[in-house]
Amino acid sequence: MKLEGRTALVTGGSRGIGRAISMALAQEGAEVAINYLSNSRAAEELQAEIQAFGGRAILAPADISDFPDTYRMAQQVLEEFGHLDILVNNAGVTSDKTFVNMDHATWRKVLSINLDGVFNCTKVFVDGMVEQNYGRVVNITSVIGQIGNFGQANYAASKAGVAAMTKSLAKELAGKGINVNSVAPGFIETEMVTAIPERVQERLLNQIPLRRFGKAEEVAQMVVYLCAPEGDYVTGAELEVNGGLFM
Ligand code: NAP
Repeated sequence: MKLEGRTALVTGGSRGIGRAISMALAQEGAEVAINYLSNSRAAEELQAEIQAFGGRAILAPADISDFPDTYRMAQQVLEEFGHLDILVNNAGVTSDKTFVNMDHATWRKVLSINLDGVFNCTKVFVDGMVEQNYGRVVNITSVIGQIGNFGQANYAASKAGVAAMTKSLAKELAGKGINVNSVAPGFIETEMVTAIPERVQERLLNQIPLRRFGKAEEVAQMVVYLCAPEGDYVTGAELEVNGGLFM
């Protein structure tokens, strides 16, 4: 197992891509803290699944767009784990509107979770990582941050912001044993994608050279690669898992 002895926190780690990441890290031997906002049932089910194969998972609910709540969660996780090695900033939402129809609240909602959330979570754990001279931070961005999308100015801006922040942090933290990367999924089979009308799904598939949507597990394996010794020489990268949609 590649991550034996490591501790990890996955934001939005209870559903969709985050669930697959929590599971993959646990299967490689990491102890995993599952962050989520309010759906405790999904988180408890995942915790039970991880425990069933002998892994260790704890629940770490918090609203990552809220700094005091994120700080409280970090104290809880550090108390239970002692330290944190791996932070996966995965939690993210969409709230689509054309720019003409986009009100300030819709803009702020997406930015506060997708971008401020990455600041909040990284901020509360980075000092510990610097102190232990080890850390792996993986931010989940999106192909939409690279190419933009109709009705997603807020989402695209948030993800492009995270991608740029990733590179800056990679430079700042390189001398401190901390690698910072992002993984940019294309369209992955999760609730976010199955909610898209079938007609639009068809149109999307025609633009993907591999002619299928990705699987959450395929994104999770990229995260494992970045956190395992194989990824030790990779920092500041944005690795794409998009079926060739953007190249
Ligand atoms: P999802 O299935 O909608 O799951 C969202 C997760 O985030 C849930 O665990 C949810 O908790 C949590 N969450 C939402 N708001 C939160 C908050 N304020 N604080 C803490 N946790 C919060 O999401 P997904 O589709 O797997 O997407 C995961 C990431 O991949 C996102 O960053 C997304 O932008 C990115 N991505 C997805 C796709 C795709 O095709 N799906 C493509 C590119 C990028 P609750 O269960 O409690 O609500």
